[in-house]
Amino acid sequence: MLTPGDNVLVDSGYCTHRERTLELLASRDGLDRQPLERLVNTHCHSDHMGGNAAIASTYGCRITIPEGEVKHVEPWTPQSVWMAQLDQRADPFHFDDTIAADDTFEGGGFEWEAHAAPGHDMDALMFFEPVNRILISGDALYENGMGFVWPGEAPNEHIDAALKTLDAIERLNPAVVIPGHGEPFGDASGSIATVRSRLDAFARDPAKNARHGTKVMFVFALLDKQSMPVSDVPAYLARVPFYRDVSERFMGLAPAALADWLVADLVRAGAVTVTEGVIRPTMAA
Ligand SMILES: [Zn+2]
Repeated sequence: MLTPGDNVLVDSGYCTHRERTLELLASRDGLDRQPLERLVNTHCHSDHMGGNAAIASTYGCRITIPEGEVKHVEPWTPQSVWMAQLDQRADPFHFDDTIAADDTFEGGGFEWEAHAAPGHDMDALMFFEPVNRILISGDALYENGMGFVWPGEAPNEHIDAALKTLDAIERLNPAVVIPGHGEPFGDASGSIATVRSRLDAFARDPAKNARHGTKVMFVFALLDKQSMPVSDVPAYLARVPFYRDVSERFMGLAPAALADWLVADLVRAGAVTVTEGVIRPTMAA
């Protein structure tokens, strides 16, 4: 039986998807006319809290963010949650309270434990339901990867933290993982092994991680913009601080050379197509 406090949403998507997120939330597989009591964020990246404002104004729900994320969203500025650095967007939102590691909350008739999940985002949390061993992992673990880890020279504290978070997930031994991107999955050990070996490779070769981060962030930007003339890519990469910094530090490529490499590599990987001089992502946003 449902009681107040039962309906809790974890994370809210990117702001350009706010209409679709609201539709899914209201659907028969979603709230189906029940109230939404609370929205809890695993972390405050733009693709996890971009729908917070729209959902709060529709449902009047309480918004809870990880304690460590407060410094990234208050005060709200163009550089909140690295938006200016990465050329991302989000609607400003108000939060009502915070949650920290070792706190618990009620949701869906279960009690969820908050666990620290630093690495991809140093202030992120993941949520674990110990009776059925369900883990809501945010960007700390996907079936075949995890959210990109900030590039840095060795030793990279973000990679070290991400590896420790994988150890913590292994100790929790989840039966089911509900990731921040992609479908729920059961074989957490297999996913952890995949991600560990990738992080080890990034730790050995910081430029490899920088190239990976560049590709991930650029595809994310294309999903937002939907398309870009190939001839605009060098100027775009020169304008957005993340690409400029990472290229200077790890790749040593001028914007035109960086653009040539990036576009060719993404085409080869099947992540984008180039038609009549316009680059588009192959994945739907
Ligand atoms: Zn993230």
